[in-house]
Amino acid sequence: MPRSIVTGGAGFIGSHLCEHLLANGHEVICIDNLLTGTTDNLAQIKSDRFTFLKYNVTNYLFINGELDYVFHLASPASPVDYLELPIQTMKVGALGTLNALGLAKAKNATFLLASTSEVYGDPEHHPQEETYWGNVNPIGPRGVYDEAKRFAEALTMAYSRYHGVKTRIARIFNTFGPRMRLKDGRVVPNFMCQALAKKPLTVYGDGSQTRSFCYVSDLVEGLYKLMMSSELDPTNIGNPSEMSILEFAKRINQLTGNSAGIVFEELPIDDPKYRRPNIGKAKRVLNWEPKIALAEGLERTLEWFKIEIARTAQSE
Ligand code: UDP
Repeated sequence: MPRSIVTGGAGFIGSHLCEHLLANGHEVICIDNLLTGTTDNLAQIKSDRFTFLKYNVTNYLFINGELDYVFHLASPASPVDYLELPIQTMKVGALGTLNALGLAKAKNATFLLASTSEVYGDPEHHPQEETYWGNVNPIGPRGVYDEAKRFAEALTMAYSRYHGVKTRIARIFNTFGPRMRLKDGRVVPNFMCQALAKKPLTVYGDGSQTRSFCYVSDLVEGLYKLMMSSELDPTNIGNPSEMSILEFAKRINQLTGNSAGIVFEELPIDDPKYRRPNIGKAKRVLNWEPKIALAEGLERTLEWFKIEIARTAQSE
């Protein structure tokens, strides 16, 4: 039976990945310090092949026994989170990645880094392909995340080249679905919560900036396929269907029957103007592409937000 570790396994994407691995017959060790993750995301897992360890991977990391795969997802991932947790974000991207790579090396396990479209910064090339080096402001407020992930990619390649560790790098684009934190500040939870409360949606700037949203089950399948491939160089995983944030807000208001409209607020510093993955490589090398259309993904996500909002209101 393959044995896998998922750092950040109690987070939004991490918890879906743990379930996917269990469904594919893996033994799964989930490690998370619960800074932005929660064990609520793991509550439905009943398997005896699953273990949860509350631990900060910024510290020395060791696991007894054999290990086949290390999925390194641990990091604050919402812009609001990494603005509030800048040092932790840099530590987990740098020291956490070092420790996770060291563990993979010690166990001769294959390592996958959850990197990000943020390595492209405010891109001057559109859509973004893996060969583009990016346009990142290292000292801006987003720099803590962007540069930590860029460092993590460089470190991963160094372990691949110098130590011969089998490594994979996924550049994850905007992802949405059940288990996003209600208050993580990202556009999907903000808009869903505002719309369900019949409040106006807060569009930052004039809303002309674009994003491309991938449903979480598609994303997780992409991560899994990448891990099982032999692709060393970074691979974009995301959904190329792009839209402006203003268009997205209108869509959410329509979906929820929210007539409260839209309010415009200040655009955050260094907010990327465009974002859309070129997924030609993932299609070619992994035979992967997203299957869930935005409309279906939004409906599933909305249902979950309704339940989660009611559950949270009850427990408060
Ligand atoms: N955004 C917005 N209203 C919100 C939250 C976000 O208009 O209430 C915008 C944000 O400025 C960005 C886009 O939506 O242009 C996506 O933001 P998110 O925080 O989800 O992640 P990002 O793609 O910037 O990493």
